[in-house]
Amino acid sequence: MQGILASPVLLLCMMAYSGLSYAKWFEDNQGIMGTNIHVELWSESVQQGKDATQAVMAEMQRINQLMSPYIESSELSQLNSRGSISAVPVSKELFELISLSVELAKETDGAFDITFASVGYLYNYRENQKPKQGQIDNLLQAINYRHIKFNVDEYSIFFAHPNVKIDLGGIAKGHAVDNSIGILKQRGIKYALVTAGGDTRLLGDRLGKPWMVGIRDPRNKVKQAVVLPLADTGLSTSGDYERYFEQDGKRFHHILSPQTGTSANAVQSVSIIGQRSTLNDALSTAVFVLGVQKGMDLLNRTPGYDAIIVDNQRKMHYSNALMKLW
Ligand code: ADP
Ligand code: MG
Repeated sequence: MQGILASPVLLLCMMAYSGLSYAKWFEDNQGIMGTNIHVELWSESVQQGKDATQAVMAEMQRINQLMSPYIESSELSQLNSRGSISAVPVSKELFELISLSVELAKETDGAFDITFASVGYLYNYRENQKPKQGQIDNLLQAINYRHIKFNVDEYSIFFAHPNVKIDLGGIAKGHAVDNSIGILKQRGIKYALVTAGGDTRLLGDRLGKPWMVGIRDPRNKVKQAVVLPLADTGLSTSGDYERYFEQDGKRFHHILSPQTGTSANAVQSVSIIGQRSTLNDALSTAVFVLGVQKGMDLLNRTPGYDAIIVDNQRKMHYSNALMKLW
C-alpha cells in the first residue's frame, strides 16, 4: 500500500493525542549519548517512580561510557585504537552486541555494517566536513564485517585489516532502551515509555489507552507523518534529517551505504515496529540503506517486525502485516 503523508485516518489518530498530566506519572528528559533521552512511567509510590526514572538515566550513562566513540576511555574507543594490532579483550556485553551486529550484517546483505565507521569517522556533520573521494577509495576495503574476528573463549576481538574502525551508533541506543525497559520491569513498573533519539519502547499501555507514538515528517520537524497507537512494543525511526549538511545541492547525512562510503539516498526515513528495540534500531538503519524494494523484502520475511518507509519522493510504504491492519 502506498499513500500520501498525513492521510485522514492517521490525522484522526494524531488528534487522539493527549497531555501528560496524571498525578502518578513520572517524567524526565536528559541529553545523553548525543541525543535526547525521554522517560515516562507510572508508579504508585513517589520514591519508586523517582528511583526508576533515575535508574534509566544511569543505564544510558553507563552504556555511553562503554560504547561512545567520542570518549577515549570507552571500550569501543580502546578496541578501535588497538584492534588491528592484536586481539583486545572486551566485556561480555560489548562482545555480544558486536556479535549481534555481525549477524545482522549477514542477514541484511551487508547493509547494516558497523565497520562503516572505517570511512564514517571522516565525516563531521556539525562542521560540514566530508572525506575526499580519494580518501574514501583508500579506506573502502576496510568496510567489511568479515574483518571482525571473535575469540569467544577469551571474549576478545581482532580486526583482520589495518584500517578497520567500528561504530555502534546504529544499534547502541536500541540496546540501551531494551536494557532500560528490563530495569523498569525488574523494579515492578508496568507502564512506561523510554525514548533515546529515534528509538522508543513501550512497557504496557498508558493506563488503558494506547501510547500515541509519532513518526515525523522527514522534511518538517513540527509535522507528524503518522501517529500510531501502540502498546507493549517498540518503534525506531532512522531519518536523513538527524545529522546532515547540504553542499552543492546534495544532502550529506549520517547513514552510509557500506558499498560506497557515502550517504544512502533512496529514502528519507524508515520506521520499524517490533518487540526488541535493539533489532528495530539496526533494522531501521539497514532498511534505510537497502531502499524500498529490498528493505520491504527483508521485513516481509522477518516475522514480528514491520516497516513504514517514506521514500525520496515522500511516498509512504507499509510492510505486509500493516497493510492487512489498515
Ligand atoms: P540515530 O538515532 O542516531 O539517527 P539511526 O538508527 O538512524 O540512529 O542510525 C544512524 C547511525 O548508525 C549513524 O549515526 C551511524 O553511527 C550508524 N550507521 C550509519 N550507517 C550505518 C550502516 N550502514 N551500518 C551500521 N551503522 C550505520
Ligand atoms: Mg538505527
